[in-house]
Amino acid sequence: MWCRYSWSFYCFSISQKKQNVMIIAPHYRDISTHNDEYGSRIYAISESSKKFLEKIGCWSNMPNSRLTSVTGMEIYGDAYRSVLELSAWQSSVSQLSWIVEAAEIERSLVKEILNIDVPWIDDRCFDYKDNIIITERGERISAELFVGADGYNSTLRNLSGIARSIKDYNETGIIANICSHGAHRGKAFQWFGEHGVLALLPLPDLSFGNQVSMVWSVNRDIINFLDSMNNDKQKLYIEDRLVDITDRRLGCMKIVSKRISKFNLTLEKSNLVAPGMVFIGDAAHRLHPLAGQGLNIGLGDSEFLCDTLTSKSQNQNFGDIELLNNYSKVRERHISRMRIVTDGLHKIFSSKLLPVKIARNCGLSLINKAFFLKPIIVDYASKN
Ligand SMILES: Cc1cc2nc3c(=O)[nH]c(=O)nc-3n(C[C@H](O)[C@H](O)[C@H](O)COP(=O)(O)OP(=O)(O)OC[C@H]3O[C@@H](n4cnc5c(N)ncnc54)[C@H](O)[C@@H]3O)c2cc1C
Repeated sequence: MWCRYSWSFYCFSISQKKQNVMIIAPHYRDISTHNDEYGSRIYAISESSKKFLEKIGCWSNMPNSRLTSVTGMEIYGDAYRSVLELSAWQSSVSQLSWIVEAAEIERSLVKEILNIDVPWIDDRCFDYKDNIIITERGERISAELFVGADGYNSTLRNLSGIARSIKDYNETGIIANICSHGAHRGKAFQWFGEHGVLALLPLPDLSFGNQVSMVWSVNRDIINFLDSMNNDKQKLYIEDRLVDITDRRLGCMKIVSKRISKFNLTLEKSNLVAPGMVFIGDAAHRLHPLAGQGLNIGLGDSEFLCDTLTSKSQNQNFGDIELLNNYSKVRERHISRMRIVTDGLHKIFSSKLLPVKIARNCGLSLINKAFFLKPIIVDYASKN
């Protein structure tokens, strides 16, 4: 079997089960950073993802000094004292999630892949005809099954003509690492309001102060306003806004990343399966980052696809539609639930209607008092 893959999670896990797999993707460039320099692209990794990464040997490659365990969470609404606090101890778990730099995960995974010698074509998919992928350099590759994992702008998916539904949130996610005056003490913070959704996630301390990662989803009008300023002015504007929105919860804040990165936010979904191909990760679905679940669901896809394919009977090939439909049926159910939750939360918290505003803030406060509900929320968020 040949497969085309980005992060190669699927490829790696299936090749461990001694299947014939190949990667078609641009070669990996090590962009991991050291000491006081942290990448601003980070992930909140759920317990299920951690277990999967442990299973494929990837977790232990990441130095402890680059991993931050999240032991608590504070979620604020836009009314005075509307807050939901979650903690690991209340839910009888050691941590709610882990914060990890994207570059660290990628580096540790590639190390494992190189160890087991999976063939890797340093090229990109350019065309697809009659069950053959043609790469940018003109190589023609056929396979029983192609696994499309090339992100939300998947070339393979676009070439295969699979229908895709897209909802544009008219929002952009801006990300940067921040040095804060106050310590995060292992907590993740989130503020919902007219400013959008602001998350500050705990990162390892710097030699000169405390550090958090900012993921701020803002309306594109604010982005247009930011884009009219130079980089230094953008940083000053954001630093001021952070202090306002957080009501100095972590004191003054200073952006330490050289650049502020921006991502347009959409809700997307396409079929997971087509003849001879299957899709995982953002190539198949994309969510608003407010619940930090995108990569976690992609890892869940990888794991389940791997299990599905390695359980095939001897007279089935990897492209067997029955086999692939089984993958699609199970994952669709999970993806749909996550879409409903994240999109529902986004609708509730972006509504400007007064009754909705009152209801959402009361809701947060009520859930905060319902101790029996909190472990259920934590358990739900830990599953991919
Ligand atoms: C602001 C923001 C914050 C987020 N925070 C979180 C979080 O905390 N937790 C979480 O779980 N998720 C989070 N997400 C979601 C997460 O970033 C994505 O779900 C995840 O990166 C998707 O991984 P992927 O491998 O499917 O796609 P990508 O990461 O987009 O990778 C695509 C890969 O495909 C390769 N490729 C592209 N085109 C081709 C081609 N033609 N041929 C071959 N290879 C190709 C690229 O080189 C790239 O390596 C966040 C997203 C945003 C926007």
